[in-house]
Amino acid sequence: MKAEDLARLFHTAYEKLAPDYGYKTREESAVDWDNVPDDNKKLMIATCEVILGGAPHLIDLRDYALQEAEKSYCPHCEKNVHMLAPRGMEIPSDTSPFFFLCSHCGVILESGVGEVAPPEER
Ligand SMILES: [Zn+2]
Repeated sequence: MKAEDLARLFHTAYEKLAPDYGYKTREESAVDWDNVPDDNKKLMIATCEVILGGAPHLIDLRDYALQEAEKSYCPHCEKNVHMLAPRGMEIPSDTSPFFFLCSHCGVILESGVGEVAPPEER
C-alpha cells in the first residue's frame, strides 16, 4: 500500500469515528481528504511512510492480482474463489502452492491444503 493511500484511509476513518469517541477534530482538517490543508496532508503521508517502512513483515501486493479461478469453489459457501498470483501469471496447472480467497465469506485457502484462515465468527 502506498503511504498516501494509507493516509487517506486513516484520515477518512479517523474523522468518521471521532464523534463516536466524543472527540471533535480541528475544523480545518475535518474535511474530505482532498480538502485537507497541504502541510497537514504531507505530515500524515510522511507518518504513513515511516509506518510502512518500519513494517517489513508486510508484503507489498502491488505486483499481485486476484484472478478468478473458475473451477475452484469455496468449501463454506460454494461460490467461485479468486486466486492470488503474480500479476499477469496464468493460473498454475501443476501442484505449486498458491492461495485462494473467497470474496463472498472471507475464507483464505491454500490449494490442495485446505483452509488457512477461518471466516470471522458472526
Ligand atoms: Zn466462501
